[in-house]
Amino acid sequence: MSSGKKGSLEIICGPMFSGKSEELIRRLRRAKIAQQHVMVFKPSIDNRHMIECVTSHNGSKLDAFPVDDLKVILDQGSKDSAQVIGLDEVQFFDAGIVPIICSLIDMGKRVVAAGLDLDFRGAPFGSMPLLLAIADHVTKLQAICTLCGKDANFTQRLVDGKVARHDDPIILVGAQEAYQARCRQCYSIDKQPSFYYMSAL
Ligand code: ADP
Ligand code: ZN
Repeated sequence: MSSGKKGSLEIICGPMFSGKSEELIRRLRRAKIAQQHVMVFKPSIDNRHMIECVTSHNGSKLDAFPVDDLKVILDQGSKDSAQVIGLDEVQFFDAGIVPIICSLIDMGKRVVAAGLDLDFRGAPFGSMPLLLAIADHVTKLQAICTLCGKDANFTQRLVDGKVARHDDPIILVGAQEAYQARCRQCYSIDKQPSFYYMSAL
């Protein structure tokens, strides 16, 4: 099963519209051109688009297995037929994804995972802080701020056209118009991101 050679973890993060899926698709397509066996998974919670694809906002697509049970990623990803493992929307997987990714790296797999580093409150999203720390390579992408055109690191959530409150539920995978990319200056929330760090002290 394992040649003894370790694999690696690449994380592609940033706000919505920053091109994470685009970049994931680009890397996985290049791996396929290099005759590598590629397997792609995404949480089945993301039903924005055709469930069996990674889809970028620019329209490019790649086939992906929608996953409810993380064991599927370990079982399928352990196979010799998986050399490169792509994960999209990785922030939506529960904490069990971390040891699974570590096991796959130990088996020699190249894992490439894309996900939101921050939720709409400006707080770190799910297991992303751990994955960013474990990663061999981190790419943090910027979108374009919808209001001023500068580089955007935040995802602004809008409910009925108004900025969402911090205590609105985090996971609402939904219509594109409910979210905008914003720079720090234009991003707005009723509790600033520092609130989450201060309350942890
Ligand atoms: P992500 O996976 O990070 O949400 P995608 O790869 O799905 O990003 O989409 C990136 C594409 O979204 C860009 O190439 C561009 O065509 C489009 N786009 C729409 N709005 C924006 C924006 N505000 N900033 C940057 N790209 C945007
Ligand atoms: Zn701005």
